[in-house]
Amino acid sequence: MTRPTSVRIDLAALRHNYLHARDVHGARALAVLKANAYGHGALASAHSLASIADGFGVAFLDEACALREGGVRNPILVLEGCFNASELKIANELDLWVVVHQEEQIRLIEASRTGARFNVWLKIDTGMSRAGFRRSDAAQAYQRLQNTGKVSSITLMTHFARADESGEPMTAQQIEAFDAATATLKGERSLCNSAGLLAWPAARRDWARPGLMLYGVDPRGGSESELQPVMTFESRVFNVRTLEPGESLGYGATFVASQRTRVGLVCAGYADGYPQTAPTGTPIAVDGQATALIGRVSMDMLTVDLTALPNAGVGSAVELWGPRVPVAAVARSANRSPYELLCAVKRAPLVHENAGQGTGEAVRLTGTR
Ligand SMILES: *Cc1c(COP(=O)(O)O)cnc(C)c1O
Repeated sequence: MTRPTSVRIDLAALRHNYLHARDVHGARALAVLKANAYGHGALASAHSLASIADGFGVAFLDEACALREGGVRNPILVLEGCFNASELKIANELDLWVVVHQEEQIRLIEASRTGARFNVWLKIDTGMSRAGFRRSDAAQAYQRLQNTGKVSSITLMTHFARADESGEPMTAQQIEAFDAATATLKGERSLCNSAGLLAWPAARRDWARPGLMLYGVDPRGGSESELQPVMTFESRVFNVRTLEPGESLGYGATFVASQRTRVGLVCAGYADGYPQTAPTGTPIAVDGQATALIGRVSMDMLTVDLTALPNAGVGSAVELWGPRVPVAAVARSANRSPYELLCAVKRAPLVHENAGQGTGEAVRLTGTR
């Protein structure tokens, strides 16, 4: 017997969200699959999107290599670019697109001895102050890349720091700074992450780079009704006991019963990626009904309140997050971000559903949407 904890991935919902992202943006979109597709399984996600996606984005070369080895033929952009000459050589052999965000990466292209011509995305820093050329250096970096004779195209890109915050003027300033820095440079443009795509029409250009929204989460914290949750993190109740008033529960005795309390024991914990910081009161569903986590989350177990659910018991289905319990709500309660929660999922097996490309049939199989 294996424990009944798993992470179900609805690939039909992923495809739906990708098409929605591209629709809203109105141009091409790279589906960002870094960090194992935010915990959803990069290869399965890539295959399910392959026939509809304009391309994929990953952070590092090894992530791109794994997709190529898995048979993915779509364009793949390496968002942090290459770290050394041998990475650049592999990028060329695997026909990868590379971000260039610092001078050393231009030197690598200048020094490369392949007859290759690279598809480069030139990253310009417009306020994030993390990676990217300073605006004043953008034209020179562009010219140096052109002069190498080893570049087939240059796409101009930048990244937003605060596009998820409504009413925050920084994004408008970043768009303006980007346009000013690139006014004289030819090439396609790419500005939008998920939040930029959803909230900043003025930032929509040739390519979007949606990540989080593909997985059904609106980075602004609201619920973009068109997005469908992709991941269902689920388990079952495997023991039930009743606490008498005054009895405490779990490590630290953080929960003390003030009345008779039926407690369901669930075989998933922070070692599976459920946040240990989730306090008593964090939303969770049992047999499809809303209830709450109680007590501190353990490594391999957590506890739920069944007092108001007399029919729930051993074997009852538990949704840690998914269609009924938004991962964003769990993140808010645990004082974490949905990005972090999704990426942290581990140990429990990923189960991919609706991998097929047939829309009607695949969607109907899930029953719920
Ligand atoms: C991760 C990443 C994205 C996707 O961001 P989301 O907020 O998940 O949509 C886009 N562009 C770059 C450069 C990234 O690193």
